[in-house]
Amino acid sequence: MHDVIDRSADVIIIGSGIGGLTTAALLQQQGISTLVFEKNRYPGGSCSSFQREGYRFDAGASVFYGFAENGRGGTLNLHTRIFRQLGIEVKTVPDPVQIHYHLPNGFSVPACYDRQAFIDALAARFPHEKKGIAEFYRELEEVYDILSSLPAGSLEDIVHLGVVGFNNPLKTVALAMKSFRSMGKTARKYIADEELLRFIDMEAYSWAVQDAVSTPLVNAGICLADRHHGGINYPVGGSGVIPQALCRGIEKFGGSIRFLSEVTGIILENGEARGVRLADGTEYAARAVVSNATVWDTFNRLVTDSRFRMDESRFLRAPSWFQLFLGVDASVIPKDFYVHNILVDDWKRYNQPGGTIYFSAPTLLDHSLAPTGKHTIHMFVTAEADDWETYQRGSREYLEAKEVLAANVISRTERILPGLSEAIELKVLASPLTHVRYLNRYKGSYGPLLKPGQNILQKPQNTTPVKNLYAVGDSTFPGQGVIAVTYSGVSCASYVARKLGKPLEYLL
Ligand SMILES: Cc1cc2nc3c(=O)[nH]c(=O)nc-3n(C[C@H](O)[C@H](O)[C@H](O)COP(=O)(O)OP(=O)(O)OC[C@H]3O[C@@H](n4cnc5c(N)ncnc54)[C@H](O)[C@@H]3O)c2cc1C
Repeated sequence: MHDVIDRSADVIIIGSGIGGLTTAALLQQQGISTLVFEKNRYPGGSCSSFQREGYRFDAGASVFYGFAENGRGGTLNLHTRIFRQLGIEVKTVPDPVQIHYHLPNGFSVPACYDRQAFIDALAARFPHEKKGIAEFYRELEEVYDILSSLPAGSLEDIVHLGVVGFNNPLKTVALAMKSFRSMGKTARKYIADEELLRFIDMEAYSWAVQDAVSTPLVNAGICLADRHHGGINYPVGGSGVIPQALCRGIEKFGGSIRFLSEVTGIILENGEARGVRLADGTEYAARAVVSNATVWDTFNRLVTDSRFRMDESRFLRAPSWFQLFLGVDASVIPKDFYVHNILVDDWKRYNQPGGTIYFSAPTLLDHSLAPTGKHTIHMFVTAEADDWETYQRGSREYLEAKEVLAANVISRTERILPGLSEAIELKVLASPLTHVRYLNRYKGSYGPLLKPGQNILQKPQNTTPVKNLYAVGDSTFPGQGVIAVTYSGVSCASYVARKLGKPLEYLL
């Protein structure tokens, strides 16, 4: 028999990813007590930072939306508005280009903040598609316009839906219609050129890890339009600054985060969530439990009642990642190099494991992340956990396999950064096994993806089949990405707060 702590908080949150922390901060500020359990000794999950030999690396995310001060509200600029509400400052620096694409056949285009410059660059490469390019990106602007005027809340909250529908009937209907549309099918209405359509696939793949036909138009409307409005802004000090600031917000209003505290089970009584059990056997009770773990980890590991098992075939499972964290001599980075880059050598392989190389050099924006005269380079490619599970972590074979893949990625990148391999002074490699270990994510996956034919409203929302158990993070609507999971946190906090009788105001 283990200790059961009587009602430790109103709401227990499992995991301190951005989704979980956003939920906790907004509930706590509303006077609903929260307790966050995190298995690591630091917050942020895929949006954390780590330090090695004087370099500070982003563990995952490094392209950030949502930090603009341009007055646009609705579902946009959520970081600015949440931190303003919490009274916490996060300094950012503007990033002039979302991604510089380096594609086959010498096709290279930076997706820059200046929308017209970007459209003109595409039209210069595809003059016969000038009209189609303008029409396609105009459709994304329409989504952006709607989303920046409808307040952020839960799609499961009838009061919220009523308020939004009553105040904005035309925009609500327009958004509902667009929710059923795909980005790729919309592109094909206007564009026929195969190479340009591949580029549009890449625009989706860059964050959704799916082609454009499988990517909802609504998600594209945020990522590919807001980069030209709110823009991309990098937090000074690295990605880990964001979860740390959310933790300060939680603590400021009396909540707490317990690190090195892995939840091993969600306690159910008569099919209702009552609390959680930690790895040391201690049990904690709450009025509601919010899981920031993936949908597979929540329902196939933490909930042991087989009635709630999550069938893997319900969604596609995104791959995991192989990552390289490099400390390099600054001389290898050319002048005017952009921070975030995507490199594809062969269109036939772009969506195969390792086919697309993502690489960033955030020290171009924040020099404090590396020793003087050095830069950090963060590179990653998709990888499947199944291909790595045969290795014993730490074994010679495992270390060799990591070195072989790293050498391949580095040599392919030398097309853009000649001399990279000689400039490396520090190299840290992470395989899908590292993702499983540090993030507790099933197969180290980037998360569930929609299957062809599913629409965005079929993503899990915050309520679950278990009463009093809620879900937040990239397994839930709207999906992967730091700003997306922040939205899921706002939506989850709004729903739970109303349920507990203390509804949230809309973010200003
Ligand atoms: C390589 C990579 C690059 C990316 N690049 C970008 C980018 O540039 N821009 C962008 O917007 N997004 C990017 N993303 C995606 C983005 O980082 C994620 O979608 C987002 O951070 C996920 O947040 P989350 O709230 O779902 O939780 P996660 O980040 O998965 O965090 C969950 C937390 O819960 C903890 N946890 C899990 N289970 C338990 C348990 N049982 N007990 C206690 N704690 C537990 C974990 O340790 C973790 O800290 C990237 C992701 C990766 C992996």
